[in-house]
Amino acid sequence: MGDRYCVFGNPIGHSKSPRIHALFAAQTGQDISYEAILVEKGSFPAAVAAFIAAGKGPARGANVTVPFKEEAFRLAARRTPRAEAAGAVNTLSFDAGALVGDNTDGAGLVRDLKNNLGCDPAGRRILLLGAGGAARGVILPLLLDNPAELVIATRTEETAARLALEFSRLPGCAINVKPDGIGFPALAGRVFDLVINATSAGLSGAVLPLPTGVFAPRCVAYEMVYGRATPFMHQAQAAGARVADGLGMLVEQAAEAFHVWRGIGPRTAPVLAALRELE
Ligand code: NDP
Repeated sequence: MGDRYCVFGNPIGHSKSPRIHALFAAQTGQDISYEAILVEKGSFPAAVAAFIAAGKGPARGANVTVPFKEEAFRLAARRTPRAEAAGAVNTLSFDAGALVGDNTDGAGLVRDLKNNLGCDPAGRRILLLGAGGAARGVILPLLLDNPAELVIATRTEETAARLALEFSRLPGCAINVKPDGIGFPALAGRVFDLVINATSAGLSGAVLPLPTGVFAPRCVAYEMVYGRATPFMHQAQAAGARVADGLGMLVEQAAEAFHVWRGIGPRTAPVLAALRELE
């Protein structure tokens, strides 16, 4: 029997990960299975243990999605530096019974920006909206790409300021830019070349209080949510920005996880195209 993988989450019925990994496996000739597992809140460690114990082939790894990324972080016996920086784990590897935690969200976003959207973060004025797990996961990879500036904005100024301070002191990381953390009202008069929405506001249809002027001419506006047109996307479009949704990030973070597990980097363009066809 082939090696087994899964994604844990709640809800999980909507997950595109089984399809993405099946396409990666077919493309690279890997004999694996990948399933979506719904986990009740409070049962995450038990669900991981049950997945490892059950099944016909060896369990090798898992993805972790909302709301278990922080719990996966705590459960991991070892963590990669990028998972440590993110404070969240979206990729687990089962290494001789030990759980190794990684975070591929940031690499996924940066690869989507660079490879699929032709938007290199280097030299850009970047605005990151939100301070949840997804925002935390992308700060280090963005900083490592030498943006002109990185401003984190949230509805609570203290949250953004605390996060910015945390990422200003990362020992051992070659970072030239210190992020700044502000509340939404302080965005008045500021202009950015890349605006990334890492809030979950789009899921509830909430409108973010963004001044129209934050979108510079030829700005790229990146919405991490996918599968729907959000108010942020409408705001950015109306301001003349080039808008992208988070489907590319989803496929790229999955490709990075596949590489962590299998040592092979699948081609993402055909998989992204296949998913777009289904939209
Ligand atoms: P979290 O729940 O950890 O964080 C959500 C963030 O959104 C918080 O900072 C929260 O602020 C903010 N927020 C929520 N509603 C509003 C609002 N109405 N106005 C302003 N801020 C708001 O979620 P994640 O960080 O894990 O995920 C964020 C989004 O990114 C989700 O929609 C998720 O679907 C998407 N995502 C996409 C990925 C992809 O591959 N495309 C990968 C990972 C995530 P506060 O702290 O003040 O409540």
